[in-house]
Amino acid sequence: MKILVVGSGGREHALCWAISASPLCGTLWCAPGNAGIRDVASCVDIKADDVDGLVAFATSNAVDLVVVGPEQPLVLGLVDRLTAAGIKAFGPSQAAAALEGSKGFMKDICAKYGVPTAAYRRFTDAAAAKAYATEQGAPIVVKADGLAAGKGVVIAMTLEEAHAAIDDAMLHGRFGSAGAEVVVEEFMDGEEASFFALCDGTHALPLVGAQDHKRVFDNDQGPNTGGMGAYSPAPVLTPELQDRVMREIVEPTVKGMAAEGKPFTGVLFAGLMIVASPEGPKPRLIEFNARFGDPECQVLMRRLKSDIVPLLLATCDGQLDHVDVRWYDDPALCVVMAAQGYPGDYVKNTAIGGLEEAGKVDGVTVFHAGTKADGDRVLANGGRVLGVTAMGKTVAEAQALAYQAVDRIRWPEGFCRRDIGWRALEREKAEREKA
Ligand code: AMP
Repeated sequence: MKILVVGSGGREHALCWAISASPLCGTLWCAPGNAGIRDVASCVDIKADDVDGLVAFATSNAVDLVVVGPEQPLVLGLVDRLTAAGIKAFGPSQAAAALEGSKGFMKDICAKYGVPTAAYRRFTDAAAAKAYATEQGAPIVVKADGLAAGKGVVIAMTLEEAHAAIDDAMLHGRFGSAGAEVVVEEFMDGEEASFFALCDGTHALPLVGAQDHKRVFDNDQGPNTGGMGAYSPAPVLTPELQDRVMREIVEPTVKGMAAEGKPFTGVLFAGLMIVASPEGPKPRLIEFNARFGDPECQVLMRRLKSDIVPLLLATCDGQLDHVDVRWYDDPALCVVMAAQGYPGDYVKNTAIGGLEEAGKVDGVTVFHAGTKADGDRVLANGGRVLGVTAMGKTVAEAQALAYQAVDRIRWPEGFCRRDIGWRALEREKAEREKA
């Protein structure tokens, strides 16, 4: 088969890495790709949001399957355009990608189909939004409706912060048109986890869970980022809770989207808050994403034992009830290395050494997230630059291997958190002490 992956992050490197290992994969391209993806795919210089360019490339090269990594091309309708051109594409249609592209749409679907999530109201008028926030009281959460590169959410601990967030989005245009509408919602307290399921419009196939680390510094300090590391499985997501996530969140959403005439195909990423209740912990939905997470995808691909290509095809063909998926039991853990300054302004084009030595550490794969090739040199070319991903018998072992590899990387302008996996490590320690 001829396969094209769209995107240039660690997620796409991990997808290309898994796809290239499939006996079904003949030719693999990645647009635009990065310096690491070069090792497993041919990189094509077309940007991920260049819908016309991607459709033209897929058509003229008779691509059999396009796998869309990031959200922008989904929301721009890339899958619709490819489907119309007779090319199979993994990912939701533009209408279904609104589960991620519009927080208000996603909340309305949840309300209509009984998915447990935070109580909310949608607003196009700032004064009305502020009046509602005042009535509800702090803490309260203000979200720009549209895509805002992960920056559109404010957890307001005071009403002043809530009002300022509403003004920023709605009156000062901080997120452009993405903030013209806001969702104001209840603050949920608990432990966060992510769960992923493949959906073919009718059926949903559970994958596994993961946890990530959003804050930039150790001990969860500093501003939010796209994710500084992740691990899978997520110990907080017990098998019982995973069943509940499928039954109470994923399946009603798949049914609801089909009933709305917007069947969801691709991977549904449920961002969850595990909250305490008198009956024990229960899952509530924070948000949906219409694609794999990054760095979560890197740990998922490391743990995937099944050939990924038949799973992608079954998703596109409405055949998920005919496939199963197998995983390695061992945990995988990913440490993100970022350019100093991230998530603010950061330096670009600094040289990275030691990548080969890092990749030789047992159980380690170094995925590239923001790199570019300069002859034989690899240059940093983004905020999040590498995903050093390891598998071990325990989270502690995976973590030790990942940091051993990190320490072989020579990149003075880079940094990483040193505590990735701390929640899972504490649980492992508590279990050892109990035993
Ligand atoms: P989102 O972009 O919707 O995932 O939100 C980003 C982050 O904000 C989440 O990962 C949570 O940490 C936090 N968050 C979003 N909504 C809520 C909520 N209703 N209650 C508490 N925390 C939230």
